[in-house]
Amino acid sequence: MGVGGLSPQIAGQVRAAQIEAVRRYTPWMMATNIVIVAIIATTFRSSDVFAHVAVWSTFIILAAAYTLAVWWSRKHIAPPRSASLRGIRRTVLHTAILGFAWALLPALFFRYADDQQRLVIACVVAGMSCGSGFALATIPAAAILFSGILTAGGTLAVLTSPDVSTLVMLILNGIYFAVIIASSRSLSGLLRGRIEAQIRADDQRDYIGLLLNDFEEHGSDWLWMVDRHYRVIHVSTRLTEVLHTTENDLIGKRLTECLPLRDGGRYSNEDAQALRGLLRRMRKRRAFRDAEVAVRVGGQNRIWSLTARPVFDARGEFEGYRGVGRDVTIASEARRKIEYMARYDSLTGLPNRITLNDDIGRALHRLRERGSHFALLLLDLDHFKIINDTQGHPVGDALLKQAAERLQAAARGFGVVARFAGDEFAIVTNGLQNKRQAEDLAERIARHFQSPFALPGGMASVGVSIGIVYVASGKRDADTLIRHADLALYQAKDGGRGRHYFFEPGLDVAAKRRHQLEHDLRRALEHGGLELFYQPLTSAATGEVVAFEALMRWNHPTLGLLGPHEFIRLAEETGLIGRLGGWAIGQACRQALHWPPHIRIAVNLSPAQFQTPGLFDTVRRALEETGLDPRRLELEVTESLLLDTTGVVQATLQALDALRVRIVLDDFGTGYSSLGYLRQYRFHKLKVDRSFVEHIETEPGSVAIVKAVLGLARELGMTVAVEGVETQGQLAVLRGIGCDEIQGYLVSRPVTAGQTAALIHQQQVASA
Ligand code: C2E
Ligand code: MG
Ligand code: MG
Repeated sequence: MGVGGLSPQIAGQVRAAQIEAVRRYTPWMMATNIVIVAIIATTFRSSDVFAHVAVWSTFIILAAAYTLAVWWSRKHIAPPRSASLRGIRRTVLHTAILGFAWALLPALFFRYADDQQRLVIACVVAGMSCGSGFALATIPAAAILFSGILTAGGTLAVLTSPDVSTLVMLILNGIYFAVIIASSRSLSGLLRGRIEAQIRADDQRDYIGLLLNDFEEHGSDWLWMVDRHYRVIHVSTRLTEVLHTTENDLIGKRLTECLPLRDGGRYSNEDAQALRGLLRRMRKRRAFRDAEVAVRVGGQNRIWSLTARPVFDARGEFEGYRGVGRDVTIASEARRKIEYMARYDSLTGLPNRITLNDDIGRALHRLRERGSHFALLLLDLDHFKIINDTQGHPVGDALLKQAAERLQAAARGFGVVARFAGDEFAIVTNGLQNKRQAEDLAERIARHFQSPFALPGGMASVGVSIGIVYVASGKRDADTLIRHADLALYQAKDGGRGRHYFFEPGLDVAAKRRHQLEHDLRRALEHGGLELFYQPLTSAATGEVVAFEALMRWNHPTLGLLGPHEFIRLAEETGLIGRLGGWAIGQACRQALHWPPHIRIAVNLSPAQFQTPGLFDTVRRALEETGLDPRRLELEVTESLLLDTTGVVQATLQALDALRVRIVLDDFGTGYSSLGYLRQYRFHKLKVDRSFVEHIETEPGSVAIVKAVLGLARELGMTVAVEGVETQGQLAVLRGIGCDEIQGYLVSRPVTAGQTAALIHQQQVASA
């Protein structure tokens, strides 16, 4: 009878449902009672006990009629949501009384009945017992009590007139009773479970309903529903407020008519695509989540987000959509901004490398699908680094921006420009018919770069080198294409700047060779293979050797003896220059110890060595380890080094100066620098480039320049050496104008370490 383990509230609801289930059967049960009683009264009409049967029948009929009347009077009253334990007890008592009344039938009249009447009584007892067992199943106590009392009445009847058939009846009754107990208990358990689940579901629905009401009234989001024809059947008041309209105005319209979609001109491609995607999904009756729709509300562009799922009825027929919507303008704009920043360069506003990769991917796709050729151009601004380093980053940035604009102007209609990295740009062209068209574009670009750039620091002429890959087959992937364009660009720069160069398979081979060479150079550094040759610098006046310049050679296992032009740049580009230069300094200092103490040793330094840490330490260590007088060591640097504005070069030069090492300016007259640098750095020696010597015998201009350099050097306390002296005539001129030192094939080509002693001797003899 109890509803164990449930909260009092749910228990009350379960009880109410139990009573209601019984109450629903009441008219049928009572009608059945009356009909059966009538049948029994008829059966006993000629019996001796008819008077008693009539009294009994009247009682039952009155009881049933009363119950019916009570039921009828409450028929229209909604059943209570909750019932107390007393309510259940009352129902049980009611059925017990009725059961008792029915039990009187076998108990009182069985013994006076003839066979036919007994059959009727047996059937009634069995039928009533089973029927009520099921009708009262939701309240097992009632079912068991009713059928138990009836069975007890039956048993009494059997005991008063025992014979074989009544005994069988007794056993059958017992079995029925047991079945009723078991089945009514299990049935009531099932019913109770269902009632409980029903109550919980109702509760939840009520709760969700409350939340939704609250959401619609107070939230910024709104609910919407459309029917199977996508016509609005419900919208939140919130939406009607936002749209300044009424619910009636929206109901019945198609959803797309209700959304304040922007007119065509105000759509970005992305927005239009998103809307098409949403409509497609709705046509296919798919669920969708956070679908963004570009709308225009109150004169402002806004972004709405819609989430919905389709609804199907029990037969699986599409019934429409139920969904929510909200304004996500701020979040969406922030997200779009982040996405933009990830794909576009902030300085120039051009697509960045990530976007470029996608563009190449798309072009490759078009090529594979439709066979449309294209070209990838990789562009590098000539001398950008110098401008950026010498004039500062704001000027560099201004140059990049203007260059980006010119590239876009040049490529308009031909392809998309992207910023690849630093001062490198890239263009993926639209479809092309032939290589000539790619070349045309390269020439167009070059023309756009002909006029100088107006930068904050003044006008500057900047050219552009272009590497081009013409793509006519879809075999290569984006990375390979970029690598190939880069190889072509490298080649364009190598051939003198401001050019364009097409990638050809040979370049790939050259790149592989370069890779192999790098590998070999590393091996040479570790296992030997590098050697220093020495070229003497002699006194112009006496011809005696005053110094040797160490010039590096590489004994390559298969390529033979290689000069510095063939590997120094590779060493610079691969970062090996630090180790290579360090080795040269150590080796040269050791060699100098074999020479008379007045002979100096000159070692060449690459600008790249100043960018790697440890140059100063390398020099100091070499001097310490060999014990060489620092004044005997000359370090030759080139003018390009002086363009550095970071202060690193200046600091290193000063530190080396403090070691009392001599710093020499090599190849004087070929670099970018102005004479102003001579004031900034105190060099010990200037080496005039051999290009001035070549025509010194015939060109008065060359003589004048060297003379001027000599004068300048004297003023600043520097000695002057002239390189590349090949003839006696040149020597005579240089001697005549008072040059200090000369170097060149006239005296000697670079020689091996072993040959230096003989050379020193030979020059001594010649001068004597
Ligand atoms: P550099 O320092 O100006 O060296 C002089 C170059 O001119 C040497 O070429 C030398 O062989 C060549 N030369 C000398 N006299 C004459 C002449 O009368 N006529 C002609 N036509 N050439 C002459 P080399 O050995 O091929 O070196 C080329 C450059 O490589 C050097 O120019 C120097 O800048 C660089 N280099 C050489 N060794 C090293 C090194 O150990 N480290 C660094 N970083 N660079 C080095
Ligand atoms: Mg040199
Ligand atoms: Mg030189």
